[in-house]
Amino acid sequence: MADRNDELFAHARDVIPGGVNSPVRAYGSVGGTPRFLASARGAYVTDAAGREYVDLVASWGPALLGHAHPDVVAAVQDAAARGLSFGAPTEGEVRLAQLVADRVQAGGLKPVEEVRLVSTGTEATMTAIRLARGVTGRDLLVKFDGNYHGHSDGLLAAAGSGVATLALPGTAGVPAGVAAETFVVPYGDLDAVRAAFAAHGERIAAIIVEAAPANMGVVEPPAGFNRTLAEIAHAAGALLILDEVPTGFRVHPAGMWGLQVEAGEDYEPDIITFGKVIGGGMPLAALGGKRAVMEYLAPVGPVYQAGTLSGNPLSVAAGIATLELATPEVYAAVDAAATTVIDALSSALTAEGVAHTIPRVGTLFGLAFLDRKPVSYEEAKTQDAFRFTPFFHSMLASGVNLPPSIFEAWFLTAAHDAEALARIADALPAAAKAAAAA
Ligand code: PMP
Repeated sequence: MADRNDELFAHARDVIPGGVNSPVRAYGSVGGTPRFLASARGAYVTDAAGREYVDLVASWGPALLGHAHPDVVAAVQDAAARGLSFGAPTEGEVRLAQLVADRVQAGGLKPVEEVRLVSTGTEATMTAIRLARGVTGRDLLVKFDGNYHGHSDGLLAAAGSGVATLALPGTAGVPAGVAAETFVVPYGDLDAVRAAFAAHGERIAAIIVEAAPANMGVVEPPAGFNRTLAEIAHAAGALLILDEVPTGFRVHPAGMWGLQVEAGEDYEPDIITFGKVIGGGMPLAALGGKRAVMEYLAPVGPVYQAGTLSGNPLSVAAGIATLELATPEVYAAVDAAATTVIDALSSALTAEGVAHTIPRVGTLFGLAFLDRKPVSYEEAKTQDAFRFTPFFHSMLASGVNLPPSIFEAWFLTAAHDAEALARIADALPAAAKAAAAA
C-alpha cells in the first residue's frame, strides 16, 4: 500500500538524482522506500506518513544529545534572530575554537592549538590534506581501504594492484592522475604502510586514517596501530592526519584520540579533523592542529582555503551549545545505552544461532554478521551481509530506524532513555529470526 513516503520518493526521483541528496539514504543495499522524515525529537524520528521510530541513525552521528535538544534549538533560534550569515569573523567562532582546543587534551598532550572551521567533513579532510602537502612540500598520501574521508577527488581512490602501487580512481569522474597521488593500503596492515614508505617515503606528505573506522562497519583499531602510524609518518618527515569526523566529541570528550591516550596509547597526530557532533546537527566541521602547522593556512601562510559560509553563526551556536552540554554525564549515559543495546542485540542473535560480532569503540558500535571482529575491509566484506536486509526491514516494521547498510555504525544519543531502549529490545527477537531465516 502506497503511503506518503512512497509518493514522495516517486516525486523525488523525478527531481533529485535517485531521489536523495546523499547516496546511502536511498536504501540501495536494503531495498524499499526510504522514510522521508518530517521531524525528530530526542531519541525519535517521525516520517512523512506520521509514523514514529526509535532512531539509531542520529543524523549519522551529530545528535549526541538527542534530536532537537531544546537548548541547542534555542541557541540556533537566538543566533538566527541576530542574522543568518555575515561573512565576517564573529565572537562565537572564537569561543568554539577555544572550546575545541580545550577539550582535545589528554595525558598532558594538547594536539590542537588552532582550529579552522569549515562546513562539512569532506572540506575538513580535503583541507587537511592540502595543508599537509603545503607543510611538507610533498604530494603523495597514504590512506586505508575501507576508510572513508568524504568525497573529495583524491580520497575516492581504490587500491592499485600491489601494496606499494599507486591508486586508481574509486569512482567515475576522478582523474587517474589525482588518484595516482594516493596509496590505498589494507587497514591494520603496518607492513603495507612501511612498504609504501620504503618505496616512496621522501614523497609522502601524510597518512590519513579514521581514528576508529566507522565506514566499513565499526572496526576496533588494533592496539598501538594509530601510534605506530604516527611513528612511521614522523620518522619519514610526513604528517599524521587523524580523521575524527564521526568519533570526535562522540566516543569521549576528547575523541578517539583522547580515549586511546587515556588507555595508555599516547601519540600526537599533526592534524585532526572534526565534523558531526561539533556542529550539533548544523553544517559545521573543523580541522585543528599545532600552531606551527595550522599557520601554513591563509591568510597567515601559503596554503589557500576559504568558505563563504565557514563559521556560519547558526552552526557555531549549535556547536557551542552542544559541546557545552556534552558533559561527562552525557558520555556515561550514551555509554550505558550502548551496553544495553549491544547486550540485547547479541542475545537476540545468539538465541537464533546467527553468527555475529559487535565491534565497539567507546560509545560507537556496529553489527557484523561474522564470527570474529574484522580488521580489514576485505575481512568485513566476507560477512553474511545478506542477513542484514530482512533484519533491517523487521526492525523498521517494529518502529526502529537503523542505518540502512551493514557497513554503517549505529548511533545512540543521550536521549535514548529506558523506554526507547525497551522499544529496541522488543524489536530485536523478530529481527534476529528474520536474519536467521535469510
Ligand atoms: N570522514 C569520516 C570518517 C566520515 O565518516 C565522514 C562522513 N560520514 C566524512 C569524513 C565526511 O563528512 P561529511 O559527510 O560531513 O562531508
